[in-house]
Amino acid sequence: MYAIELQSVSKTYMGSLKKAVGDFSLKVDKGSIVTLLGPSGCGKTTLLRLIAGFEKADTGSILISGNPVSHQNTWIPPEKRGIGMVFQDYALFPHLTVFENIGFGYTQKDKKKRVLEVLELVNLHQLENRYIHELSGGQQQRVALARALAKRPSVILLDEPFSNLDTDLKMTMRYEMKRIIKESNSTAVFVSHDQKDALAVSDKIVVMKDGVIQQIGTSKEIYRHPKNRFVASFVGRSNILEGIISDDGTSVHTSIGIVQCNQSRPSCCGKKVCLSIRPDCLEISDNSELRGKIKQYSYTGDRIDAIVTVTTSDGSSQDLLLHTPPEKEINIGDTVCFNVIPNFISVVKDF
Ligand code: ATP
Repeated sequence: MYAIELQSVSKTYMGSLKKAVGDFSLKVDKGSIVTLLGPSGCGKTTLLRLIAGFEKADTGSILISGNPVSHQNTWIPPEKRGIGMVFQDYALFPHLTVFENIGFGYTQKDKKKRVLEVLELVNLHQLENRYIHELSGGQQQRVALARALAKRPSVILLDEPFSNLDTDLKMTMRYEMKRIIKESNSTAVFVSHDQKDALAVSDKIVVMKDGVIQQIGTSKEIYRHPKNRFVASFVGRSNILEGIISDDGTSVHTSIGIVQCNQSRPSCCGKKVCLSIRPDCLEISDNSELRGKIKQYSYTGDRIDAIVTVTTSDGSSQDLLLHTPPEKEINIGDTVCFNVIPNFISVVKDF
């Protein structure tokens, strides 16, 4: 049994000609963290609202813990779905203390014990009497999470939970969020347009575009084996090159030379394909045949991002993004030699 199951769910808003979500099917394992990742307007929030019961699907079924909550004539209202929600702006009550916010709407006899339990889980046990404006952004987020968890929901839904946090706090809260959700044995669905958040916290990522799933996979699968050009470019950076795959399906003849693939593709031997080459697998090395000129570079602290212009076999030029260690001395206009390491190369389109 899955914590959440969506079966061919579609939704078109009134007055719109385009489906916000189209024929969407997804199974979320119990105890897992799943992120819906995609650009603005791709239907992430609509999906979250459909699961929560704030919107009604036009077609398809939604099941929570195996029970239909939206299916033909069945409609279970949001408050009866056993779902906790963390809103983007946290939606905390400013006139209530931390304790009162977390306990809001909790009607069981063990309220005090339960609130103290979740306060402990989110590491806020000394701040229970503070008001919301007396907390930092990260602490407010913990209160919102604690409030969602207090009623022991089977599922919690989080709408862009990291978007209001600065970079340092975001990094800490990614770990914290993951720990808290795992320790509470909940199943969580995040909505995010930030690939770094998604790669860091998710057991599975669902990459979406125009209301349709492009790829579902673990962070590693999505990064290392993007299935199409959109996923390759939206999740991480990628160099996209066309080429002809070799007769044994293990390498591709491109305009910059022969590139080895990390997966053999016997089905498209001899065919035209599109390759995604991650910047991490272009390595500057003195003994390489491939060469190009540094066009631009930027220092990011832990590495240098460099754009190298390569003259292709037909005499035109191709810009490639590569990552190199921060200690490497490079200058604009330098000629560099580089290798292609086949780790992060995928065929993203068969013609
Ligand atoms: P963002 O990251 O910007 O929040 P999103 O991926 O969450 O975007 P949705 O908010 O689900 O996208 O919107 C999907 C599509 O549905 C968009 O084209 C949007 O304009 C449209 N839409 C969303 N809400 C409504 C509404 N209440 N009425 C009409 N159209 C809507």
